[in-house]
Amino acid sequence: MIEVFNCYSKLTLDSTDFTKILKGINEVGYQSVIWQSKIKFLETAGIKNLSKEILDWIGYYNVKGTNSFIYRTDLFVEDKTVIYITNESSGFSSPDRRIEIGVISDSTTGGNDILIRYVKQFEASLKANVDGRKVRHMEKNWLIFSKNDKLDTHVTYYNLFRYPILTDIESQAALIISDNKLRQILRRIAEHESFQTQHIKGEHKDSILETINELINYSLVTTRYIVSCKKKSTPIGVVQSKGELGKFVLSCPHCGRNFADELIQESFILTDLGRQMTSGSHWMTILLTNSLIESGIPKESIIWNLTQDSEEVDCVVQFKDKTWIFELKDRDFESGDAHPLTYRAVKFKATKTIIFTTGKVTKEARKVFQDMSHHTVAGKASVSPLYIEGVAALKAVLQTLINNETLLYVSDKAKQLSLSAGLDFSPIFLNLFGKYRIEHKGEFVEDVNIFRYY
Ligand SMILES: [Zn+2]
Repeated sequence: MIEVFNCYSKLTLDSTDFTKILKGINEVGYQSVIWQSKIKFLETAGIKNLSKEILDWIGYYNVKGTNSFIYRTDLFVEDKTVIYITNESSGFSSPDRRIEIGVISDSTTGGNDILIRYVKQFEASLKANVDGRKVRHMEKNWLIFSKNDKLDTHVTYYNLFRYPILTDIESQAALIISDNKLRQILRRIAEHESFQTQHIKGEHKDSILETINELINYSLVTTRYIVSCKKKSTPIGVVQSKGELGKFVLSCPHCGRNFADELIQESFILTDLGRQMTSGSHWMTILLTNSLIESGIPKESIIWNLTQDSEEVDCVVQFKDKTWIFELKDRDFESGDAHPLTYRAVKFKATKTIIFTTGKVTKEARKVFQDMSHHTVAGKASVSPLYIEGVAALKAVLQTLINNETLLYVSDKAKQLSLSAGLDFSPIFLNLFGKYRIEHKGEFVEDVNIFRYY
């Protein structure tokens, strides 16, 4: 996942001093794109001596005012990482004067180390190249920008919710239940008070028994033996194993036979784990939560059972100032589900709604969303949900969704840097971080470059 690590210091530097610092950083071996292009530009024209006039020109050149170039941003590229240094003060009398240094990286580790390395390099070059009398009085504290991946109070304040609880046993169980064949059998067993071997009919009997054995091995299902009176054909007791029958000398209240001599039928029931996982399709919540975390969403950004006035959402993500609500269905998502979902999306101020179904989003349900999107009463994003149809599609869709969101976030930063540099940096960002996938009618359909102003 693409991450931005950045910090700032309330330094006031004029464009000449900023130029000298960047010159210093480039001269110790770091290469920034604007500095290097200026040097190449001059060299091409036979200029090699960086005189005071030339440095002045790099720091600021005036081509009839409006298109003037002030050197206040530069970029470094290391492997898959962009490092930027911005001087927010040159040429502006802004109260927000600062030097900002940031690292934008697609690798999950090392971003902070790179940031520290550049901050140190900046400070070293400041000391070496700017008048000591000025530097001595500068406040060089670096403050880290807060990462906006925490829960926002507008989601949690008025509502009930709980944080995810993930145990290894439940996570493994959720993975097992995500298998279609296993889940169908588990559901059949859950529907019966006691599911007996005799309920299984037809040619698939062997394969069903095999599946039940798998479920028993995974501790989702367990065996019980029902003892029935042979004479009256009514159940008289249940035991966990046939061995128990020999232990107790119990006799039938109807005919007086010993239990062991009555009719004994094998049956299957869900274990506590099996019940917890299937109740309210809790396995889907666990599977989704694990997939979100694996795709880079911090665990603190995920909440379960967000509830207000009897409206409940199974899973909510708050990420980069956006609120996503997930609707989970262990069946097809029908048209009747569409209106309640839209209502919840509005109620919880969702910026995005995502339907995760083990089946399909039916044609009729799709039509409801399309009709609603023509009347944008409820606000745009929440009315057109994203569809995840089937467990197999979950990972890929989440990754695209999260990648999209981080690209949006980075593209804001990239555009801001381009503006500040007076040069479009979009080729660099596009090359490193790729394209954004546009969503249409619930599916991702097309790649676009979102780093460019159009
Ligand atoms: Zn009996």
